[in-house]
Amino acid sequence: MVTTHNLGFPRIGARRELKFALESYWKGQSSREDLQHTGAGLRARHWRSQATLTLVPVGDFSFYDQMLDMSFTLGNLPARVRGFHGDALDNYFRVARGRSAAGAEEHAGCCGGVAAGEMTKWFDTNYHYIVPEFSEETTFTLDAARLLSHLAEAKAQNVSAKPVIIGPITYLALGKARDGADKLTLLPRLLPVYAQLLATLAEAGAEWVQIDEPALVTELDAAWRNAFTQAYQALSTGTVKLLLATYFGPLRENLPLLSALPVQGVHLDAINARDEAASLIETSPPERIISLGVVNGRNIWKTDLEATLDWLEPVANRLGDRLWLAPSCSLLHVPADLASEQKMDTEIRSWLAFAVQKLEEITLLATALSQGRAAVAAGLAANRAALAARSASPRVNNAAVNQAVAGITSALGRRNSPFAVRAAKQAALLNLPLYPTTTIGSFPQTKEIRLARSAFKAGTIDEAAYKHAMRLEIERSVRIQERLGLDVLVHGEAERNDMVEYFGEQLEGYVFSQNGWVQSYGSRCVKPPILFGSISRPKPMTVEWIKYAAALTAKPLKGMLTGPVTILNWSFVRDDQPRATTCYQLALAMREEVLDLEKAGIRVIQIDEAALREGLPLRKSQWQDYLRWAVESFRITANGVADETQIHTHMCYSEFNDIIAAIADMDADVITIETSRSDMELLDAFDHFNYPNQIGPGVYDIHAPNIPDEAQIVSLMQKAARRIPPARLWVNPDCGLKTRQWAEVVPALTNMVNAARTLRASAA
Ligand code: GLN
Ligand code: ZN
Repeated sequence: MVTTHNLGFPRIGARRELKFALESYWKGQSSREDLQHTGAGLRARHWRSQATLTLVPVGDFSFYDQMLDMSFTLGNLPARVRGFHGDALDNYFRVARGRSAAGAEEHAGCCGGVAAGEMTKWFDTNYHYIVPEFSEETTFTLDAARLLSHLAEAKAQNVSAKPVIIGPITYLALGKARDGADKLTLLPRLLPVYAQLLATLAEAGAEWVQIDEPALVTELDAAWRNAFTQAYQALSTGTVKLLLATYFGPLRENLPLLSALPVQGVHLDAINARDEAASLIETSPPERIISLGVVNGRNIWKTDLEATLDWLEPVANRLGDRLWLAPSCSLLHVPADLASEQKMDTEIRSWLAFAVQKLEEITLLATALSQGRAAVAAGLAANRAALAARSASPRVNNAAVNQAVAGITSALGRRNSPFAVRAAKQAALLNLPLYPTTTIGSFPQTKEIRLARSAFKAGTIDEAAYKHAMRLEIERSVRIQERLGLDVLVHGEAERNDMVEYFGEQLEGYVFSQNGWVQSYGSRCVKPPILFGSISRPKPMTVEWIKYAAALTAKPLKGMLTGPVTILNWSFVRDDQPRATTCYQLALAMREEVLDLEKAGIRVIQIDEAALREGLPLRKSQWQDYLRWAVESFRITANGVADETQIHTHMCYSEFNDIIAAIADMDADVITIETSRSDMELLDAFDHFNYPNQIGPGVYDIHAPNIPDEAQIVSLMQKAARRIPPARLWVNPDCGLKTRQWAEVVPALTNMVNAARTLRASAA
């Protein structure tokens, strides 16, 4: 018998029930009991969807984030919320988002707002966790209430529960020591609390506990490797059995370390580290359970079940009852259920598997291993047919597109002249002042825009009326920018719902789901578009809008596009060709758009690469390969233009010291980046690296409603001017302004333009 299990189930709900329950509770529109009721309902439903598995995860459900749950389980609350009134859930939301619920907050005077915990991406996913905070004084105390109550709930529903927790080393590794303390000095204080937690779970009837240590797929130094050994020696003395779960990549040099840990079971990501299974089995003690993650928990494609069985059958023969099967990682990163997609292109739908379908695949594989393939012949045949249809579909493999990618040469991504030559020609053409001002692209998505968009979607207004409404918004934003005295204008992106979806909808090779939501953080979800096939651009996508805006003004108007790497990184992409190939296809399609904009007379074109950094592999040793094709893709999109055409790019993060050479290699004429939140600290990178082109370090944080004052902006720019010659500096906000109100944008940009004037005057 093969044991089947799951590492975690998407908790937001197939219809985002949790999102709506949380938001209504936070606004004070529903009670604590309503929220708890929705939570319990979702857990019960999710356990039912997993009922065919031998072991079902419990504790993976969260009102906000599993790392924050762990912090509360370990009693590691930031000092700033400790004296507050209310109960654990109030404090939980205070750490998560700065405040508890509106109605539940009876102590606005004494415990109103508080700084929210920092949020960071969970490994290389688009999920964000709340970073645990440590200091030298940090102590830990067990609070197992949440886990115990979920376990009791599961027991009452006859769920064969396997509690899931985050392991001590990953917990420490992902936290931040505020006072620069060495986090590992906390380990001796942390381990007894973990031991107590495991004992408590055992007492509550748990036979197995899944303890997640994805830190094992990252590069670890000797101290952290030792910490693993120390931790698991300390935790091995309990009665509960530990399934140590690793995922998101291969173990490499950490494989012997993992093998030697005294745990009863190990889970390996057999999608990304299939070739390590043999050596893990070889080096594991003879009784150890080996759990193999054979269904991809990070994509939405059906698994090739027969190919998986070809590989698994000999492994199963060797392992017998010691083999467990699961998805590669928690299913948190995929949508819940394909059954909610009734409007999708049926051909493409037949190639997909969401969380529920992925678990069906696990069950089918286990049955095939236990009873032979004949027992699941119909399921295998259906799977084979779906896969064959997918690979034969001309929509998936378009010969012309493949040929174009094969024909890419490095000349395609090279500008005609070096930057200095281009810069002179662009200066002559654009005639901009010193410290030119611009914005990053979007202007407020007003109520009028949203109303017109939903009316158009609902069919209550026609396309002409919708376009008219958008043109009015564009005109308004151009007029406001002229009045403000900005130097390079934008059209404001009124017509765009989302910077990736907008292009995906117009490219061949994409489909969209109705309910394919994936949690990004807290109640926030994204619905990544599904890139299933060869990418091509049937017709221009933005030219009409940009031309319209440009004709309204005598000032240069910047065309606005999303770059290929960002489109790739924010989509579910195909698994049947390398990411690089898909990225090159996107690059060629976006290149056509750039050239069409240029042909339409647009002399400044911005290509956003907001997500370039987040595509970096988990291991530094693989960065170069990613950066090579990512940068090359950008260059293919951007660099086909004449010297006179000025290419901008935008990135919204501050840590890029370690990839600055690659960014320079993109050879954009101007790059605008986020810097204000770090007080221009990011520009430290320029002390060591001479960034050759022009740069607009964001002078104010658009994520907050605050209006930056002129002096503040001048001082930030003066800091920048100490590292970068003023002749190469631009003045702009951190990012796009779509989440702000005009009432904030106008005064903020007024101050920004005035600051630029002050800077020019003092430079003259
Ligand atoms: N041009 C986009 C905007 O202004 C950029 C958004 C982003 O960087 N995330 O909205
Ligand atoms: Zn941005």
